[in-house]
Amino acid sequence: MSRIAENLTQVRQQLRKSAENAQRNTADITLLAVSKTRPADDLRIAYQSDQRHFGENYLQESLDKINELSDLAIVWHFIGPLQSNKTKAVAENFAWVHTIDRLKIAQRLSKQRPSDLAPLNICIQVNISEEESKSGCLPSELTQLAQDISQLPNISLRGLMAIPKATDDPAEQLAAFAKMKSLQLELQALHPHLDTLSMGMSGDMDAAVSQGATIVRIGTAIFGKRDPKSPT
Ligand SMILES: *Cc1c(COP(=O)(O)O)cnc(C)c1O
Repeated sequence: MSRIAENLTQVRQQLRKSAENAQRNTADITLLAVSKTRPADDLRIAYQSDQRHFGENYLQESLDKINELSDLAIVWHFIGPLQSNKTKAVAENFAWVHTIDRLKIAQRLSKQRPSDLAPLNICIQVNISEEESKSGCLPSELTQLAQDISQLPNISLRGLMAIPKATDDPAEQLAAFAKMKSLQLELQALHPHLDTLSMGMSGDMDAAVSQGATIVRIGTAIFGKRDPKSPT
């Protein structure tokens, strides 16, 4: 078995265990394979092990892979920072965008979404650790932003996404994810269909699942360490 296939088996086992510990159904949690900086062949290997959801951060790199892998039924998620001059290609090529933190970007995506495609699934990124350098809207801005985005025609607002401040302290990890869960519950009072919490990476998947993650975004644990020279 290839290394990637072995890793996938292991990550799926861990995910099952985390779900069991949290008394949750594994089927309610989507494993998103984060494939930034990886060659298309690595994604093909993961696909052959039944992986269907892939997350990409860099637009040009992702368009090359989408083109090269067009024979596969991949569900593409955009999880990188998105500038307004790049929205068109994202609206045309992705099923999900996890990193919306401004109304303007969502408006453009809605306008540019081709009418023969299903509405674009969107998560609002929350700057949950309130770090100055981080993208994401502040928790205090969330209600208004969700209200505005939910009015857009070709967008399906699905939930929230976060990249909490990196820490090895399990208590801190749990606290950030618990805050996300409570924000989701607050929003669900107004928008009952918001079913998605995109949170948890290779280093904190278990904590995220324990607090209700429905999409975990896993790169390193599936594909191995990224080249430190490439961005993030
Ligand atoms: C790179 C990345 C991940 C995956 O991180 P790993 O630690 O490699 O699992 C998840 N989410 C986002 C937004 C990323 O940029």
